[in-house]
Amino acid sequence: MELKLYDTLTREKRTFVPIDPARVRMYVCGPTVYDYAHIGNARPVIVFDVLFRLLRHLYGESHVTYVRNITDVDDKINARAAERKIDIRELTNETYKNFKADVEALGCLPPTIEPRATEHIDEMKTLIERLVAAGHAYVAEDNVLFNVPSMPDYGKLSNRPLDEMIAGARVEVAPYKKDPQDFVLWKPSKAGEPGWPSPAGIKGQGRPGWHIECSAMAWKHLGETFDIHGGGIDLVFPHHENEIAQSRCAFHSGVMANYWVHNGFLQVEGEKMSKSLGNFVTIHELLADWPGEVVRLNMLRSHYRQPIDWTVKGLEESWKALAAWTATPEFVDGHDATIAPVVLDALCDDLNTPMMMTALHGLHSQGDGAALSASLRGLGFRHRPESKKVVDTAVVQSLISARLEARREKNFQESDRIRDELVAMGVVIKDAKDPKTGELTTAWEVAR
Ligand code: AMP
Ligand code: ZN
Repeated sequence: MELKLYDTLTREKRTFVPIDPARVRMYVCGPTVYDYAHIGNARPVIVFDVLFRLLRHLYGESHVTYVRNITDVDDKINARAAERKIDIRELTNETYKNFKADVEALGCLPPTIEPRATEHIDEMKTLIERLVAAGHAYVAEDNVLFNVPSMPDYGKLSNRPLDEMIAGARVEVAPYKKDPQDFVLWKPSKAGEPGWPSPAGIKGQGRPGWHIECSAMAWKHLGETFDIHGGGIDLVFPHHENEIAQSRCAFHSGVMANYWVHNGFLQVEGEKMSKSLGNFVTIHELLADWPGEVVRLNMLRSHYRQPIDWTVKGLEESWKALAAWTATPEFVDGHDATIAPVVLDALCDDLNTPMMMTALHGLHSQGDGAALSASLRGLGFRHRPESKKVVDTAVVQSLISARLEARREKNFQESDRIRDELVAMGVVIKDAKDPKTGELTTAWEVAR
């Protein structure tokens, strides 16, 4: 079966041809570990887990290497550790442990390799030395900077006009820079900041820039050129553009990765997720109310390149679909996990997960429980969604009485408001009329 992937660099959907089908290689930018990951961060994790599973299905489990790094050196990490008065390593270890638990609950396989930036400082320094030797980087006031004009075709991935790139990079235009676009490969460490002996003849201690970390880890684990590089769309510029510049110039090669795959952004109930709007949700918080399988399915209902609007309504619909599918008697632990051909067709078309949903609904309505169950397992849905909501029965009953009262008084605004309150608690209600008395009664259950 032929897999097609949309490549951001060539701006077209292309047939995927691996460099070596016996060793298919994918790199995805992972989390910066300073706090709980939010649900936007869960999107690339789930999307690329589906791609990983698909590649394993197509090329064989032992023939796919998936590298997702951990950024454990960063200004945000330093600031948070100082704020919490804990050691940096303690903060990064704790955050990584939480991240691992979150993504496991979302049904994601562990990547083949999860390299930590701080364990690849030597590789970063080697790349930096090479770039300096080749005239692509220079030392200025104990920084090493990549000289953007030294690479004639810089900017192909994001394809932006030069002035936009300068503005978008939001890099401080330090006086020692040869060109305003030049970006940092290595910078000096101040007292109290993590630091390592510097490359390129610089005397003091220093630390790497963010972009060089990924070039070094991808090189170490996947080689100079590999198949797929992924991440969220926000990383196209400057992060991935700069990774390409570093890797191609260090290895004198025309290509870093053959396919650049980017997921679209996630917003919450129609708004950009941000702490100031109060709609910022961590995966951890979400998992307190919703089963991981439901969160996973809800993420896959939208095509990965489209923006996704994260809503409670969507989660409820996902729950309903998954509850129906997993109610089939074939869905038992230890059952076979193979993705059915109709589902594969959908995924092979640039991970068309909305079409995958249609295919799963189709298997369900045809009553093909075996194919449905095997596909669900192959896609990472291991359990029936179980309600995690603890509902206080007395509260539900008093809300139901108040709603009936409001209805008797024809105060429909109030009765609707109470119904919404019940729905938000995860309670599904069903009205019925007593055939003898004509009186309205309400039955309820916790949504499953
Ligand atoms: P960060 O820790 O911010 O570097 O992000 C880790 C990953 O999550 C990157 O691949 C980002 O592109 C991705 N990401 C961050 N925010 C969102 C969002 N709101 N929607 C989708 N992906 C996101
Ligand atoms: Zn990266």
